[in-house]
Amino acid sequence: MRIVVKVGTSTLTHSSGRMNLRRIEKLCRVISDLKNEGHEMILVSSGAIGMGVGKLSLRERPDDIPTKQACAAIGQCELMYVYDKEFSEYHHTVAQILITGADIADKMRHQNFKNTVTRLLEFGVLPVINENDTVATDEIVIGDNDTLGAVVAVSAGAELLILLSDIEGLYTADPHKDLEARLIPQVDEITEEILRLGEGKGSMLGTGGMKTKLHAAVIATEAGIDMVIANGREPDILYSIVSGNPAGTLFKGKRKA
Ligand code: GLU
Repeated sequence: MRIVVKVGTSTLTHSSGRMNLRRIEKLCRVISDLKNEGHEMILVSSGAIGMGVGKLSLRERPDDIPTKQACAAIGQCELMYVYDKEFSEYHHTVAQILITGADIADKMRHQNFKNTVTRLLEFGVLPVINENDTVATDEIVIGDNDTLGAVVAVSAGAELLILLSDIEGLYTADPHKDLEARLIPQVDEITEEILRLGEGKGSMLGTGGMKTKLHAAVIATEAGIDMVIANGREPDILYSIVSGNPAGTLFKGKRKA
């Protein structure tokens, strides 16, 4: 199977902004093992800005764009350094790809991106993809890595997209506020009602960005790709998801007639 795994900053870092080494080590080990099983893996990783903030020991995440971009430039190196080191332990090679919305919008550049990913997978290499935050401004930004994950999954012709976050999946209401909230194990069709779970009152926005995850689910499922939202706390969850066992929320990709 060709699988895209997207990991969020909350999975990769402690609240201090510093790396969650135990988590990253486990994640790299599980992804390596899935590659060893024969799956073609692509990693879409956030964390550049967060790690830059940690490395500079800034007290909080900056608001202004130049500082954010500087943090991304610093953090992206750190991120790739750690991935290179961890995956090397399991004899896997990583490759960094940074893209923006403009690269996807431009036919030629998009094709170049696809060609590179295809060739890397043929070489058995793990592409690690992030948005090119140092140049991405409002006009050319993809904006969030959930959407980037879906765009990558479609471009790469993946069969499965997994979004690892700090939430178990999609709930019927905000689980932090509503004791009655239940996890929805499977979504066969993304209806208006489902989309409303990411918006307005009872929104889970600050707690895992459900709105962007549902947006990603629309893009992926329309292209026939299954998508799972799951908690990345225990990276072993990837084994269950890949084996088709219930974990988090599964959005079924639309089957073409
Ligand atoms: N590209 C950003 C980073 O690496 C993260 C964007 C996101 O997580 O949505 O810091």
